[in-house]
Amino acid sequence: MPVTTRFAPSPTGYLHLGHAFSACDAWTRARGAGGRFLLRLEDIDPARCRPEFAAAIQDDLAWLGLHWDGAVRVQSEHLADYHAVLDALAARGLVYPCFCTRAEVLREVSASAGAPHAPDGSPLYPGTCRRLSAAERAGRIAAGERFALRLDMQAALIPGLWYEEEGEGQVPCHPEAFGDVVLARKDAPASYHLCVTHDDMLQGVTLVIRGEDLRPATHLHRLLQALMGWPAPRYAHHPLLLDATGRRLAKRDKAMTLRDMRARGLSAEAVIGLIRAG
Ligand code: GLU
Repeated sequence: MPVTTRFAPSPTGYLHLGHAFSACDAWTRARGAGGRFLLRLEDIDPARCRPEFAAAIQDDLAWLGLHWDGAVRVQSEHLADYHAVLDALAARGLVYPCFCTRAEVLREVSASAGAPHAPDGSPLYPGTCRRLSAAERAGRIAAGERFALRLDMQAALIPGLWYEEEGEGQVPCHPEAFGDVVLARKDAPASYHLCVTHDDMLQGVTLVIRGEDLRPATHLHRLLQALMGWPAPRYAHHPLLLDATGRRLAKRDKAMTLRDMRARGLSAEAVIGLIRAG
């Protein structure tokens, strides 16, 4: 199978040097193997994503010469795809509606000392709404109460799963660290975890190149792939670029955005040179 890589930014800000590093790595790997390099805009969160950033991302990549194959996949245009996955999981009893507000979850969690957190830093959900009766759920939904959908982790767990990390081999998966993770938010139609896994399958991605910060999420993505019977890509998580003070680059660091470098007169070749030098 030809290598297919992708760059999948969320249009919540301008691309910085760290993004360019990731995109360049994915582009180089695809081009070097005669494979495909895809661009996907992960704009599923309406509160954080903006069209001007989506346009800027494409403009910055083209400026760098990192041309992608085929059409850009824009997640917000494919909500029906993600709903179908949620429906499939619901039909197997693997998701349940959660009516709790963020404040309620925090209140419950902070009441129990030393409460554990998921790898993304959010408090582990104590399972309040998992214990609701079917009648109670139906009543609250009928009353128009808004709800998120959570994965019932205990029901969904598949023992013995692993994913393949380049240079490391098979890594045993521990998705249970996420607890009953949210797969559809009250205010966003589907979660990052669900959409990214679905789209990597749909687009035939064979090698996922992304920052080390997303490595813990891979455990959960592998579980979703296994539950849905989707093939598992290989993964290569790269170290994050740090600024002069040792902090990871973020979209708020204006000086490190490609926009700013370009405005200061840096050429695309110079930026690629910086990236290749690590
Ligand atoms: N959209 C995610 C982000 O911008 C990255 C997704 C991925 O590479 O898996 O952080």
